[in-house]
Amino acid sequence: MFVSFDGVDGAGKSTQIELFLAWLRASGRDPAACRDPGSTPLGEALRGIVLGHATPLDLRAEMLVYMAARAQLTAELIRPALAAGKIVVSDRYLLANVVYQGHAGGLDVQDLWEVGKIATSGLSPDLTFVLDLPVELAAKRRTDPPDRMESRGLEFQERVRQGFLTEAARLESVLVVDANRTADAIQEDIRSAFTAALKMLSA
Ligand code: ADP
Ligand code: MG
Repeated sequence: MFVSFDGVDGAGKSTQIELFLAWLRASGRDPAACRDPGSTPLGEALRGIVLGHATPLDLRAEMLVYMAARAQLTAELIRPALAAGKIVVSDRYLLANVVYQGHAGGLDVQDLWEVGKIATSGLSPDLTFVLDLPVELAAKRRTDPPDRMESRGLEFQERVRQGFLTEAARLESVLVVDANRTADAIQEDIRSAFTAALKMLSA
């Protein structure tokens, strides 16, 4: 089973993924964790380019760099892990590309889904958690210096938030989780939704 976490930066993805992985491991599973972009030699190199500030990137080039990183990630890590029967937990995936470069950036959303399909050869998460939080609160939670996406300002982040909500309303596999609560309360919802989805998939 393939599970991804998404949402604006500072929403709590890393926090929730850590708790989720710990719970999976405690229940005797051996999950494979990754981040998109990243988690392969190519993906980590491209992550540095696309999230760093040193290399000028046209929006379309930026979109394709994310896609290239994800193509490598699915081929090198996610597909083999799924084939080995593992639960794969990814910090972001194609949905983020659709939302940041499409809904918020202005590229055609349907085109992004199409390019994503080619890049991943059609591999999409069985379940995606979108951690939803007012963008001002998310910005307050962030402590690291802003990366390329984060430095685009609150108006951009608001379009990102709305993009996630629009896609979640359309896609059955994407669940919105209210992230303006304690980490434990959020995690409880994630675990029960995961358990329900796992039961459905193995039925
Ligand atoms: P993301 O990976 O989505 O950018 P993080 O998990 O790194 O988000 O969380 C961003 C910051 O907010 C961290 O300092 C983290 O400790 C804090 N944080 C995470 N979840 C919560 C929560 N539910 N309530 C308050 N602060 C949180
Ligand atoms: Mg994070």
